[in-house]
Amino acid sequence: MRPYGAVKGGAPYFEAVLAVVLTFLLAAPLKEAPSIVTIRARRAQELVGQLSAALSIHNQVEVAVVIQHPLVFSVEPLDAGKKRFRLSMELGFLLMLDDDELSAALAHELGHVWIFTHHPFLQTERLANSIGEQVVKRAYFERVYSKMWAYEGTSGVPIGQLLGPDRDVDQQPEQNPQ
Ligand SMILES: [Zn+2]
Repeated sequence: MRPYGAVKGGAPYFEAVLAVVLTFLLAAPLKEAPSIVTIRARRAQELVGQLSAALSIHNQVEVAVVIQHPLVFSVEPLDAGKKRFRLSMELGFLLMLDDDELSAALAHELGHVWIFTHHPFLQTERLANSIGEQVVKRAYFERVYSKMWAYEGTSGVPIGQLLGPDRDVDQQPEQNPQ
């Protein structure tokens, strides 16, 4: 077990953030009832496994709960070969999400993983969402964004700039937002 706050190798630009990583071990044997944080973190790791399989992402993606994160949720490679990634989730926001919303948030981050390993110069929020939307309903992404803007106290942006066209509602061809 690593000492509290210790960070090993990789991801140099996130070390400051990871210095506040909660001591949280998915594999640790439990003697007491798990806390809600542990339960949600394990659920997130389980969903990451399912969503990765559905998206044919074979990289190892490990979930970490952090007290504070400037991006709330994020993902970054842990090695130069981009075989392993750490998906960081801010504790307060994680606890606000139900399973559907958590799936959308994780699918978005896995979208970034896919881009990292296929088209690293094309990282955009919109593309990450369009990959995530292959496996999680659009409506759940909308809910996550609403909650995140409320959580951050920001006004947000038009949802059409972040998500693809709503195919459940209209079948019209996609409009180019630019
Ligand atoms: Zn993103």
